[in-house]
Amino acid sequence: MYLSKLFIPITKDLPAEAKIKSHQLMLRTGMIKQSSAGIYSWLPLGFKVMKKIEQIVREEQNFIGAQEMLMPTIQSSEIWKESGRYNDYGEEMLRIKDRQGREMLYGPTNEELITDVFRSSLKSYKSLPQLLYHIQWKFRDEIRPRFGVMRCKEFYMKDAYSFDLSDEEAKKSYNKMFYSYLKTFNRMGLKAIPMSADTGPIGGDLSHEFIILADTGESQIYADKNIFEINPDLYKLNDQSLQKMREDFSKVYAATDEKYKEEEFNKMVKKNNQMITKGIEVGHIFYFSDKYSKPMNCTIDDKNGKKTFVKMGSYGIGVSRLVGAIIEAKYINEVMKWPKSISPFDVVIIPSISKNNKENLDKAEKIYDELKKQNIDVLLDDVDENMSNKFKKHDLIGVPYQIIIGSKSKGNNFEFKELNSQSEILSLEKIKLKIKK
Ligand code: ATP
Ligand code: MG
Repeated sequence: MYLSKLFIPITKDLPAEAKIKSHQLMLRTGMIKQSSAGIYSWLPLGFKVMKKIEQIVREEQNFIGAQEMLMPTIQSSEIWKESGRYNDYGEEMLRIKDRQGREMLYGPTNEELITDVFRSSLKSYKSLPQLLYHIQWKFRDEIRPRFGVMRCKEFYMKDAYSFDLSDEEAKKSYNKMFYSYLKTFNRMGLKAIPMSADTGPIGGDLSHEFIILADTGESQIYADKNIFEINPDLYKLNDQSLQKMREDFSKVYAATDEKYKEEEFNKMVKKNNQMITKGIEVGHIFYFSDKYSKPMNCTIDDKNGKKTFVKMGSYGIGVSRLVGAIIEAKYINEVMKWPKSISPFDVVIIPSISKNNKENLDKAEKIYDELKKQNIDVLLDDVDENMSNKFKKHDLIGVPYQIIIGSKSKGNNFEFKELNSQSEILSLEKIKLKIKK
């Protein structure tokens, strides 16, 4: 893509409500455009990043055997009346009527709908366990939408649901999701901390929020630094190993203010290992047993033909929130550097261009064609502008690698730079290897 052709409407005058870096940066680089309070259009640059995040989420869900499907955004109120949540959900739910006057709603989550799909499809314990997920827009009429895409009304979420015969079996599904989440966030260059969370009236210890560290986060967190030493890649995808992983995590202190107790924290964590900071919730997993299957009469026949309520859990990742959350975690000293796995482009070529010298642009175009042939996603900055402005712009767009065609690039060797490090002079072959690594 040539930068001059890219639809990237840079916003210069930031609105007053854009208080945090990610919101400002997403507006400044034309990743999003607000359409009304808490509702955004995703423009090409932002959309590209979100799609890359979505694909990583998808691959890691598939890896643990979850199956992708798609449920609608608009749901009938009937199933919500069955579960009892139609009244409980309150004003966050966007309620609508169709032309026949039927009560509908824009789904804020999908427990009811998936339970309805499940109960009309599967009846035997032989079909269990099942893990189903979809990646779909949600709507919650948040009272105070803020922080750009991080807390908005319409947002893109991966939500998965597990179905098991017993609490014990369900725990295994839960552990798989726990593992999948750690791997998902790792692949995005993030260190997410699983925090045991409040389960509300249902009780039990099976709820975790996955939180990444960022000063602008809404969650206050208390954790033992040793939590970062546990490496999910050292565990295998089998029930025993995943149970061990969960136990290893549960030995290390990590809690949000909901569950935090000062005394316990001081007892369990040495002073210099104590981490008290802010974080952003990017995922939440939850085991709720028969909370929905019971009122919705979703049963399964066990080995003896006896009907039992299917045991369920739900597992969310905020795909659109992650775009903002990653910026919050990675934007340092006015430079945004996307993790390679989700960067909107693999590399940007920045030629020094002037009116009477098009030589550098010619060179840049040749390199561009060459890299394109190798399936490298290249951005070429063909805009006639001075180099210092160009560099400032690319510090914001955040493509991690730059090929700079100026005085230092001679013959077949070019100036190559990784954002936030020193540049070096390399042949195109070496550059290709670095990008592909
Ligand atoms: P929060 O505590 O941040 O309000 P929640 O607990 O209501 O979130 P869940 O129902 O657990 O959210 O939803 C799963 C995930 O969806 C969250 O971890 C978060 O990443 C994302 N999410 C929830 N609400 C929003 C929102 N208003 N805007 C963007 N993403 C959201
Ligand atoms: Mg939550």
